[in-house]
Amino acid sequence: MTIGSAVHEAAQKDNLEKIRTGEPLKLAQMVDAAVAAFDEKARQEGLEVTNIEAGRGKDSAVQAATGYGVHISPLIPRPVEAETASVVRIGDIELAGIIDYGDAQGIYDLKVGRRHPAGSAAKSSQLSIYGFLRRARTGVWPERVGLDIVRPGLKGRPWIADRQLAPRTEGDYSALIERLKATQAAVTAGVFLPAAEGEFTCDARWCEFWKDCKYVSPARRAAAEQRDES
Ligand code: SF4
Repeated sequence: MTIGSAVHEAAQKDNLEKIRTGEPLKLAQMVDAAVAAFDEKARQEGLEVTNIEAGRGKDSAVQAATGYGVHISPLIPRPVEAETASVVRIGDIELAGIIDYGDAQGIYDLKVGRRHPAGSAAKSSQLSIYGFLRRARTGVWPERVGLDIVRPGLKGRPWIADRQLAPRTEGDYSALIERLKATQAAVTAGVFLPAAEGEFTCDARWCEFWKDCKYVSPARRAAAEQRDES
């Protein structure tokens, strides 16, 4: 979490600098921004940055910020927004979120740490919601959405990055609204619907209710715990 926050801070500063001056931050400045954010977050969480684990975390923050600077930053030469918080109301439904960064074509979310399955951007409701937020602010639908994923290289090699882009049409956004309405009607009626079978967000890494959710079998829970320990 701290490493992710550190890289997001570096990305925010980098993209704001591009918006302001037309030029990216230097790589060393991105790393400095990540280190400062890591130290601040560690201080807030009461971590002793001199201990070995925190030291490793800080080293990973440096590696991750470098991965962002080398692989992701050049993909966004002309951002138009960075860390934009918005809220939009559609009927009874309120949508809120913070877009990590966007350019004239689309909006993008930065993920740090783990590989995402192919097709994650195409299926992501979170990205569609960000599309609504962009439209609410600018009046224009983003024609694409994307996930930028920064993750460790194999066997201690430098951090690498993947980009997943997916188109979004007005039909996709309309379908999402219908889904949200149906979900809201079910929740209002006291019906709690589980995620679809195989949905990747139904996982300990993504869902905060996973540990206690009645729709997760003990065998799945045990397998996830084993995976996390390995
Ligand atoms: S763990 Fe439960 S709450 Fe979380 S996504 Fe799966 S079904 Fe939904």
